[in-house]
Amino acid sequence: QRQQSAILQCEQVTVEFDGFKAVQGMNLHLEQGELRFLIGPNGAGKTTILDVICGKVKPASGKVVFKGEVDITRKKEHQIAELGIGRKFQTPSIFPTMTVFENLEIAMSQNRGVFAALRAKMTQADRERIIAQMVMIGLERKADWRAGLLSHGEKQWLEIGMMLLQEPEILLLDEPVAGMTDKETDKTGELLHEIAKSRSVVVVEHDMEFVRNFASKVTVMHEGKLLKEGSMEEVQGDDRVAEVYLGK
Ligand code: ADP
Repeated sequence: QRQQSAILQCEQVTVEFDGFKAVQGMNLHLEQGELRFLIGPNGAGKTTILDVICGKVKPASGKVVFKGEVDITRKKEHQIAELGIGRKFQTPSIFPTMTVFENLEIAMSQNRGVFAALRAKMTQADRERIIAQMVMIGLERKADWRAGLLSHGEKQWLEIGMMLLQEPEILLLDEPVAGMTDKETDKTGELLHEIAKSRSVVVVEHDMEFVRNFASKVTVMHEGKLLKEGSMEEVQGDDRVAEVYLGK
């Protein structure tokens, strides 16, 4: 059996916006190679906790520890990204007039800080890595398509592929299946499980059917706090969770 160890710990994190506590004493422990779904009603603080992890928002108190030893609470966003925590927002940041392959090339070059003479520096091994990445995100037959012509779902996968080429150890995703077709949603669920074989993934999600179909462990937030954590069955069977979702 695989040995598990915490890759990320949020300890007693509190975030205030003009005195309003958006997150209050939140604890979140993520194991290596875990796919975690973060759910809860609107305004529960889910996006804010992702913002804290990636360094976009600084907590008023509490701390965030990466790999059990690196305190990233006060680090800058770019430093946290370089350490291996990647954040994907809802709007994909792809280059629409460039091809799928070129988008992936750019993502890989950012990893190495090579900006000029990109092609000249590409090795066969680099190309193979990009091809393998295209296969994983299901876009190998669209390598030469302009990214702007892809479907909404395909654009999201491309951006995930771009992130993966930067080799993050943790991926933070905000509603990755929003606006996707049912088929795209299912493919995304499978993709997330594939990614979690080698990395840890945190997904903020509103689509409860998607969560039911693909989540093993779920964290429920409510009013800035941890309400419940466990398997989907445990979470669904909890009275307080039912209460919070009443009328939804
Ligand atoms: P969720 O992602 O669970 O819907 P958020 O983390 O986006 O919740 O927001 C939590 C609470 O914090 C909400 O009440 C929201 O209005 C508030 N909030 C979020 N960001 C800001 C901000 N930049 N300034 C003021 N209030 C904010």
